[in-house]
Amino acid sequence: MKKPVPIAAVLVVVSCSFSILGMTAGPGAAQERATPGTATVQSGGGPLGADVFRIKEVDLGDQSWGQNLLRVSVENLSGEPQPFWLHVGGRYQNTGRPRGFGMGMEEVVVLEAHEERIVEHPYWIPPQVGELSYGVKFVLPTGSTPPWEQEPFLRETYTVTYETPNRRCNELTPLPQSLKYDWLEEYRDGARIRPFEVVSTEHFVFYVLPDSPAAKEIEAIRGRRERVMEEVCAFLEVSVDARINFFLFPDAASKRWCMGHQGDGLAFDATIAEIYSEDTRLDPAHELTHIAASLVGSPPALLNEGLAAYMQAGHEWNGEHVDRTAAELLSEGRLVSLAELLTRTEIGSRPDDGKVAYPQSASFVKFVIDTYGREQFLKLYGALRNGAEDNAARFEEVLGVELGTAEQEWREALEAV
Ligand SMILES: [Zn+2]
Repeated sequence: MKKPVPIAAVLVVVSCSFSILGMTAGPGAAQERATPGTATVQSGGGPLGADVFRIKEVDLGDQSWGQNLLRVSVENLSGEPQPFWLHVGGRYQNTGRPRGFGMGMEEVVVLEAHEERIVEHPYWIPPQVGELSYGVKFVLPTGSTPPWEQEPFLRETYTVTYETPNRRCNELTPLPQSLKYDWLEEYRDGARIRPFEVVSTEHFVFYVLPDSPAAKEIEAIRGRRERVMEEVCAFLEVSVDARINFFLFPDAASKRWCMGHQGDGLAFDATIAEIYSEDTRLDPAHELTHIAASLVGSPPALLNEGLAAYMQAGHEWNGEHVDRTAAELLSEGRLVSLAELLTRTEIGSRPDDGKVAYPQSASFVKFVIDTYGREQFLKLYGALRNGAEDNAARFEEVLGVELGTAEQEWREALEAV
């Protein structure tokens, strides 16, 4: 539920509310590096760089989900130090998203005159089922044009299909010693992450690590998740046809290592990942609600996160009923105005979101459901669009009441809590 952090050279944006983006070359970073690393030799014919570097071998590693290691055997044929820009990126093609589901990592490497070596470049494959098409590109940076707009002197493309259940993830690649991340130390030797155990049920394919708390309790977990799935689908009047790939990690490090995401839980497309340890147990309905509710609509975070938190057992957030928390926030003057909350495209990135925006949104969702009925709420959920400017107008159109009036009624109801 938190903002992501970059892993290695990877810029990965993942959020609780099923968006995941592999960012390719960010203009800032790459350009900054392209200037000092500008090539000094101009090419004759063909793409720039073809006569400067000889790429002898491109080894992708085992192409498993999670972290992978690209190894490129390369030689600088020139008599001067030369940089090349290396990019690994691609997309899942069949995700139901217009542009697929992407990933991308880039780096500038400098080779000394006549140097020949193996360049190691970590890359990350999002754990997703389907066909991933991706490529490795090599560009001689000129400094005048961003490398991602230049013609590569070598481009290799690949297609890998990940089935359900996927056992490719079992071969987890150790990362190069040169990478330094505190959280990674425990997983420096990739072999220490043992192969996933895979348990398939009607709606889920569970991936758990051997001897982890989730592996020990998988029978109870699968039964409970199936029940909650049915409750959530019945409430939302949808049926989720795709099997959900459900990862349960024993700690934050293993989850981050495989999913490229920090935070306790996330959901995107048909994938859920949660930490399941002695200390951390997420409410079983929250992420499932995100997946099922995506079939109803894509409203602003007020309704999206509000509903997911509302669906938690007993309408509780952090162990307290959401109305009780909202009533306390009201008395302390800490509620965010709904007009403002309605413009937020996500909840979770602000330091106080866990204390304010989540429980407040859940309390307001509960108010709408209790006051106007579930059917009307679902209509509202389908009518509002995340990021749209006319959401307040749409709210009034669906419920027949101004947002400000509804907010006032909700606040009055909270005063009686
Ligand atoms: Zn959420």
